[in-house]
Amino acid sequence: MLKVDEFFGSNVFNDAVMQQRLPKDTYKALHKTIEDGKTLDPKIADVVANAMKDWAVDKGCTHFTHWFQPLTGITAEKHDSFISPKAGGKVILEFSGKELVRGEPDASSFPSGGLRSTFEARGYTAWDPTSYAFIKDGVLCIPTAFCSYSGHALDQKTPLLRSMEALNKQALRIMKLFRRDATRVTATVGPEQEYFLVDKKLFDQRKDLVFTGRTLFGNKPPKGQEMEDHYFGSIKPRIHAFMNELNEELWKLGILAKTQHNEAAPAQHELAPIYAVTTVSADHNQLTMEMMKKVALRHGMVCLLHEKPFEGVSGSGKHNNWSMSTNTGYNLLDPGDDPATSAQFMLILTAVIKAVDEHPDLLRLSVASAGNDHRLGACEAPPAIVSMFLGDELTAIVDAFEKDKTYTAAEKQDLEIGVNVLPKFHKDNTDRNRTSPFAFTGNKFEFRSLGSSDSISSVNVVINTIVAESLRQFADVLEKTDDFQKTLHELIVNTLHKHKRIIFNGNGYSEEWVEEAARRGLQSFPTTLDVLPRLISKENVELFATHSVFTEAELHSRLEIRLDNYIKVLNIEGETCLMMAEREILPACISYMRDVARTVNEVRNAGLRPTAAEKLLEQLNEHTDKLYHAVEELRVAVARPREQTHMAQALYQRDVIIPAMNAVRSAADKLETLISKEYWPFPTYSDLLFNV
Ligand code: ADP
Ligand code: MG
Repeated sequence: MLKVDEFFGSNVFNDAVMQQRLPKDTYKALHKTIEDGKTLDPKIADVVANAMKDWAVDKGCTHFTHWFQPLTGITAEKHDSFISPKAGGKVILEFSGKELVRGEPDASSFPSGGLRSTFEARGYTAWDPTSYAFIKDGVLCIPTAFCSYSGHALDQKTPLLRSMEALNKQALRIMKLFRRDATRVTATVGPEQEYFLVDKKLFDQRKDLVFTGRTLFGNKPPKGQEMEDHYFGSIKPRIHAFMNELNEELWKLGILAKTQHNEAAPAQHELAPIYAVTTVSADHNQLTMEMMKKVALRHGMVCLLHEKPFEGVSGSGKHNNWSMSTNTGYNLLDPGDDPATSAQFMLILTAVIKAVDEHPDLLRLSVASAGNDHRLGACEAPPAIVSMFLGDELTAIVDAFEKDKTYTAAEKQDLEIGVNVLPKFHKDNTDRNRTSPFAFTGNKFEFRSLGSSDSISSVNVVINTIVAESLRQFADVLEKTDDFQKTLHELIVNTLHKHKRIIFNGNGYSEEWVEEAARRGLQSFPTTLDVLPRLISKENVELFATHSVFTEAELHSRLEIRLDNYIKVLNIEGETCLMMAEREILPACISYMRDVARTVNEVRNAGLRPTAAEKLLEQLNEHTDKLYHAVEELRVAVARPREQTHMAQALYQRDVIIPAMNAVRSAADKLETLISKEYWPFPTYSDLLFNV
C-alpha cells in the first residue's frame, strides 16, 4: 500500500509535475504567471497543453474538460476526448494551447440573470492558471472562469479572482508604507465543512430528502443532541471507513484534508482542510463536497449538505477562516509581539473592523439563501445580526487605543504606535465565542454564517472587497502625510472610535443582544429577502465598481438569479410537501383510523367498552381533519398564478407558502405521534439519525 506522502497530489498537475515535464523556460514563464497573476504568453500555452495531455494520458485519461462554477451552485463539466483523426483510419491524441486556454460551452442553459440574450447563447471559459489542473474520474479537469461573450461574469470564480486582485492592490500600498518587501498579497482561506450522513435505503423512502435535500416532516426523536455525546465522540466504523476513503480521494486531488470529527447533531460530521490561497480553497471546497457525495454512495449512505436537513437538531454550516499573507510568507493578521509589527497589525485589524461595520448587509447577503434562513438566528448558528468577536485581550487593546484619543490624546499623540499601548499579545485559541458570526481566532477571522452547501466564493468576494476598500481609504490618507506615525495613530484611533460598536463579545443568541444591537444601530436582516435588494443599492454598486469586482449589470443579474433560485427552491418544497401530505400521510392516517374504528366496533360487539380505542379514534379524527384542511390551503396556495415580478413571487413564497407548509407539517407531526409505526409511510427522524 502506498503511503499518504507518496500518493498525495498524484492526480494533480502541480508544481512538481510541471517542473518535471515542462522545458525550463516554459516552466519559469508559467510559474511567473501563477505567482504574480500575470497573463500567460499564448506561445507557451501549446507547450503546457501538450505536457498536460501526455501526463493525463499516462494516467489513463481519454478526455479533458473545462471545469467551472456557474451560478447554479454546483460545478459544471463537458468532456471532450483527446482524439483527432489521422490517415489510415487511425487517431492521434491531441490537446492544443487554444483548447487549454479557452473553451466555448453552450451557455444557454446556465443562469445569467438576463445578461445574455438567447441569440448570444455562447459563453466562454478561460483557464485559471492559479488553480492546478487535476484528474477526476479519468478526465483531465482544467479549472476555468466562465464569462459571457460581452465579458460579463457568469460564474463564482471570475469575481473571486477580481476581488483577490483588488485586495492585492490595496494591501500592497499599505505594505509599501510599512516598507515591507512583499510584491503580492493573497487572501487565504480554510473552510470547515459540516455535513450529515444518512442511510441510502432510508433516504430513498423520503421524497422530501430526495427532492429538497431536507426533511419537510418529522418529530425530534426522544434523544437528539442534548446529551452532547456525539460532538467529538468516537467515530463509528461505517463512518470511519467513509472518512478514510474520502481522505484518500481528497489527498490524491492535492486537497489538504486535515481534521475530521463528529459534530453536535447525531449523524453530523465535519471536515477541515489546511488553509490555502482562496481561489484554490474555493475549488477544493467544491471538489470536497462533490467527493463527500460520491464516496458516501459507495458506502450505502447519502451525504446531506443542506443547511437544515432536520428540524430540532443543529443544521450544517461552513466556517470561513480568512486571512491575508504576503508572498514573503507573512500573515497580515498575525499580531506578532514586536511593536513595529503590531502597529501594522493594528491598522489591518482596524481595517477589518471598519469593513465589517460598514458592510454588514453585504456579509449577510453573501450567506443568504432559502436553506440558510432556517439556520441563521435559530440559536444554534450565528445570529442574523452581523457583529465581531475579538476576545478579551484584543478588545482591551482596542479599548486602550480608542480611549487614548478620547482621554489622553494630548501627551500620547506622538508615541510610536504600539510601544506603550500594546501589551505582548498571546495568541489565545481557547478564548472562543461560538455565537459570534465574525470572530478573531488568533491570527485569522472566522466567518461562521455560511450555509453548508454555499460556495465559499460569494463570501470571500465580499470580505476581500470590503477590506480592500478600508485599505484603499487608509492608504489614501497615509500616502499623503508628512508625519506618518502621528497620522497612523490618529487614523487607527478615530476609526476604532467610529466602528467599535460592531464588537460584541457576549452571547449572540440572547434576546438582550437583539435589543442591544438595535440600540447600537446595527442592522438586522432576518430573512434572505430582507437583504437581497441591497445587492444593487447605490453604495454597493459603487463599491464593487471602484474595485472592478462587479459591474452594475452583473449585480443586477446576480440579484435576479438569487431571487429565481429562492422561488424555485420554495416551489419545489411546497409541491413536495403537498405531494407527501396528500399521497402518503393522509392515506396512512385514514387506513389507521379505519382499523382503529373496526377495533372499536369489534370490542363493542364483544360486549366491552373500547375506551382507549375510542379516545385514540377521536384524536386521530381531529388531527387528520386539521391535516386535511392545511393540505387544502397549501394546494390553493401552490396553485395560485404567479405574481408579476421576481421579488413579488419570492415574497409570496416567504409569506404564504412557508406558513402553509408549516401548518401542514405541524398537523402531520402530531399525527406521527398518534399513528402506529407500521402505518407511518416513511422513515422517521429516529430511523434517519441513528442508523448509520
Ligand atoms: P476550529 O477550532 O475553529 O474548529 P479547525 O482547526 O477545525 O478550527 O479549523 C481552522 C481552520 O483555519 C483550518 O482550516 C486552518 O487551516 C485555517 N487557518 C489557519 N490559519 C489560517 C490563515 N492564516 N488563513 C486562513 N485560514 C487559516
Ligand atoms: Mg473545526
